This record gives sequence, structure tokens and C-alpha cells, in this order.
Amino acid sequence: MAQIIDGKVISQQIKDELKEKVAALKNEGKEVCLAVIQVGNDPASTVYVGNKKKACEYIGIKSLAYEIPEETTEEELLGIIDKLNKDDTVHGILVQLPVPKHINEENIINAISPTKDVDGFHPASVGALSIGQKGFVSCTPAGVIQLLKRSGIEISGKECVVIGRSNIVGKPMSMLLLRENGTVTICHSRTKDLKEVCKRADILVVAIGKPRMIDASYVKEGATVIDVGIHRDENNKLCGDVDYASVEPIAGAITPVPGGVGPMTIAMLMNNCVEAGMN
Ligand code: NDP
Repeated sequence: MAQIIDGKVISQQIKDELKEKVAALKNEGKEVCLAVIQVGNDPASTVYVGNKKKACEYIGIKSLAYEIPEETTEEELLGIIDKLNKDDTVHGILVQLPVPKHINEENIINAISPTKDVDGFHPASVGALSIGQKGFVSCTPAGVIQLLKRSGIEISGKECVVIGRSNIVGKPMSMLLLRENGTVTICHSRTKDLKEVCKRADILVVAIGKPRMIDASYVKEGATVIDVGIHRDENNKLCGDVDYASVEPIAGAITPVPGGVGPMTIAMLMNNCVEAGMN
């Protein structure tokens, strides 16, 4: 039986620790503030933005909501970001992605000041991570590291295999595991013998975006399996990139979906906001 890594419990611990930090900052007269910009009203984005606001409320972070129309031009959006960059009472700025097609996402990410880049997507943040400097780290992979550390799973010296090389998950995940002294292999759609590579892993992080693709035949007995994927299956049930029923009996530790990596992303966003507020 695998150790179940409970993201709900761990994210709650992190949020409670942050709540105390925010209260201490308030006592010093400092109010942490996150500005969240949503362009248009994509239903999934509305849910994500709503959850972020709720987490801010719980922790005691002030949240400023900019819900602006779909037709907003790139120039107008850049104008809002510029104003927020210059506002000393705002510590974090987050533009909910994706933005409408007429807006260039890269220009938006690049416009946010790296000191307020709580999503960790700015090239300066990504660069800082890769050369070991201080900077904000993308929230989902940062959450995975917390799950491992707080579950007592050693990373140093371990064979770590990451499946996926996206800018928001796979690449920063690999850099973070390397920073923790793991021996890291990155797999992607052109990887040959994926199964054989995965079977080397003491820690296997799966971020492919393919429902239940990774079954027990990819996993070494006793390995820690972290499932970043999130999907709805044909029965409208949430599932991950890992076939949990097949992998759980042989894994040493595993994250469920839901209740594994998912809740960590917002907790780490809140952590980045508090850090921004302390700077
Ligand atoms: P992307 O689609 O951006 O990246 C998927 C990666 O998987 C790519 O690097 C791709 O390779 C690789 N890949 C695809 N098919 C295969 C295959 N057959 N064999 C090996 N590698 C393959 O996804 P994201 O990184 O954005 O997200 C991954 C998953 O995590 C999704 O399910 C997403 O919903 C979920 N997610 C969950 C979050 C959370 O908070 N829990 C946050 C963010 C994402 P290549 O580069 O060669 O195309």
C-alpha cells in the first residue's frame, strides 16, 4: 500500500502558516495586496479567479479584482499593468491566462515587474531559477516540492524523471528538482523508450496532459509518483495523467487526483504573494 500524499492537508498547513505571517505583517502596518486581472469571462477562468480571491480572503491578503471586457486592447491591458507596477501598495500582479487571442500573451507576461510576478512566468523569474538566484517560482512545480518535503520524501541524490517540458510545469519542475540535488531526466513526446526511462525513477513527476496514460508498467516498485494532470473522464469524474488504480499498489507514495497537486497551486501562489509583501 502506497503512502497517500494528501495535498488538501498540506496546502491547508501552508495557508495557515501564511495566515500567521500576514497577521504579523498587519501588526507592522503592512497589508499584503494581490491584483488579479481577468480579461473576458471564460467560465474556467472565472472559477480559478474566484478560488484565488477566496484564498486571499482566508489568509488575510487584500485582493484587487480587475474584471475587464473581452474587447480590451493589448495597449489598455498594458496600461493597467504599468499602473499596478508603479503602485507601492500592490505587491503581486496576476493576469489570468489564457488572454483573448487579440492580445499577445508574451507581451503581457513580460510587462509585469519581476518583483510582482507572483505566477513566476516572467523571463527574469525563469532565468533566476535556472542560475540559482532569488525569484518567484511557478506555483504548481513549487507545490510539488512542498508535497515531497512535507511528506518526508528525500530528493537529494534520487533519480527524478519528469514527463513534460512545458514552461509552467515540466521545465521549472526539473530545475527545482535539480536545485534539491536530484538527478533529473526530462521526457517529452519525442522521448524513446519512455517506459524504460520512467522505470529508473525514484521520483516520477507526470505532467503530460493525457488522462490515465501512466500505468504500473512505467513505474518502479516503491517509487514516489506525483500526478500533475487534471482531466474529466467520460463519466465526468476527475482523473490525472496517472492510472491511479494500477499504480497505487506498487508505488511507495502517490498523489491522488483530486486532492494531490491541485490544491497546492493556489497555496504556493499565496506564498509568493506573502513573499512579495515582505520584500
Ligand atoms: P502541456 O500540454 O503544455 O505539456 C505536455 C507535455 O507532455 C509536453 O512537453 C509534451 O511533449 C509531453 N507529452 C505529451 N504527450 C506525450 C507522450 N505521449 N509521451 C511523452 N511526453 C508527452 O501541458 P502542461 O504542462 O501545461 O500540463 C500538464 C498537465 O498538468 C495537464 O493535464 C494540465 O491540465 C495539468 N496542470 C495541472 C495544474 C494543477 O494545478 N494541478 C497546473 C497546470 C497544469 P512535447 O513538448 O514534445 O510536446
